[in-house]
Amino acid sequence: MKVLLLDAGPRRRRFSPLRARLQSIFGSYLGLIWPGYAERQKRRRERLLRQPIQSRCYAWAGDPEAFVDDLDNPYVATAAPFHWFRSRQVGGRLAVGSHGRRFMRFTDHELEQWPVSAHELAPHYASVERLIGWAPRECNVVERWVKKLVERKWPQHGLVPISKVAAPDFVALALATGHVTLQCETVVSHLELDADSNEVSAVGVIDAATHRSREVFGRRVFLCASTIESTRVLLNSRSARYPDGIGNASGVLGRHFMEQVHVFANVRVPASKRHAWLPPQRVELFVPAHDEPGFGVQVMSGRLLGPRDMKIGLASFGEMLPRPENQVRLSAIMKDRWGVPAVEIDYRLSDSEQALVSEQQSFLSRLQDGDIEVQLEGTADKPLGYAIHEVGTARMGDDPKTSFLDPYNRSWEVPNLFVTDGSAFVTSGYQNPTLTMLALTDRACTKVLSSSRA
Ligand SMILES: Cc1cc2nc3c(=O)[nH]c(=O)nc-3n(C[C@H](O)[C@H](O)[C@H](O)COP(=O)(O)OP(=O)(O)OC[C@H]3O[C@@H](n4cnc5c(N)ncnc54)[C@H](O)[C@@H]3O)c2cc1C
Repeated sequence: MKVLLLDAGPRRRRFSPLRARLQSIFGSYLGLIWPGYAERQKRRRERLLRQPIQSRCYAWAGDPEAFVDDLDNPYVATAAPFHWFRSRQVGGRLAVGSHGRRFMRFTDHELEQWPVSAHELAPHYASVERLIGWAPRECNVVERWVKKLVERKWPQHGLVPISKVAAPDFVALALATGHVTLQCETVVSHLELDADSNEVSAVGVIDAATHRSREVFGRRVFLCASTIESTRVLLNSRSARYPDGIGNASGVLGRHFMEQVHVFANVRVPASKRHAWLPPQRVELFVPAHDEPGFGVQVMSGRLLGPRDMKIGLASFGEMLPRPENQVRLSAIMKDRWGVPAVEIDYRLSDSEQALVSEQQSFLSRLQDGDIEVQLEGTADKPLGYAIHEVGTARMGDDPKTSFLDPYNRSWEVPNLFVTDGSAFVTSGYQNPTLTMLALTDRACTKVLSSSRA
């Protein structure tokens, strides 16, 4: 099978953490030896003006080019503010420098309302884990020490180590097969429907530089431009048969929008409490969820040498429930730089989700103990978006009346259309979602390949 991969962004040089680190350490001296440095800093200041939203993401400062230009790519959050952190570059947000690279499976508990069980997903999770080089591991010495410290305050919650992986450059792997052609800086605006066959007949694209429109053809279309963006493309694909978006006979497209309710805290463990003999090892631990709706806490710290205060970050991610009124739709007036209608994101947290914020805060605060300080990051007025785990707007299901996709990520209505990103999710879980997106994609592709061979 031959694949044409369309991407709105450029193919950038792989982000180098070492280069970024050297720049942050020696940045102030670089102007003396690097003639273009002042100009580069000026461009960075200008970028800040064009990225008022993106620049709030923790990873922006290290790799601003990885994020979109907010002025070219507007959107509106109507009911409550939302920060949509996103990339237009080959590799997407996985190619952002300082990406978390934490990959976790969903369990049967999170998949309860899904048309696919953890057992069915298991071989696809395993296949993706092999590809990205993920493997379970034991706690290191510092993690064992932190685990003891933390578990005294959270006695019912066993901490497990997280395996971080250097996710590969998936696009390079795909190109190396010789079956894939990449077209960068090609913005997908909509899908055309063939009224006779009721299949996608063409993909409408716009050249990012020249703004020229054209059509691209293929037997099947896999849409995976990220949750909100894929939904935008689908909603913008209107025809006499589907005036509210291609395949949207059920009216569920754009509904059940979810993010995770995110709370962050910094913990300071004074040097006096820290054993000086601890080696300089990173801490990456996870407390799985325990409640309904649940939340999971990631416990992390960098390498630390010698008797210094230890700073531990606690990132808690709470489950948001799927409610049809939380919705992504097209704006009637606002368009992006390429003339494509922008989206309106219309969501409200329910009372139980509001309560989940306080619950997570009090759970994290339990670590406060004498001279161990816990400082919560202001979350009461922090908009949703900081988990960067948005999902749910083209949900899969067993019933075409209540879902947009069938259990194999295929449109119920339009048989050659597949959507394989977070928009297919039925619930949000509290885990980082990318491994599940990749496993669903692997499963959908395996199904297509086996049926085309049969
Ligand atoms: C800093 C950061 C840290 C993160 N850490 C983690 C983590 O530790 N674990 C985890 O599971 N998740 C993490 N996430 C979230 C994770 O990156 C996303 O869940 C994941 O990237 C979603 O994959 P995607 O392919 O659906 O979307 P994206 O990664 O956003 O990719 C979308 C792709 O589509 C292209 N595109 C967009 N619009 C169009 C269009 N109109 N036409 C053509 N192409 C288009 C883009 O250029 C891009 O290549 C993190 C995100 C960020 C920003």
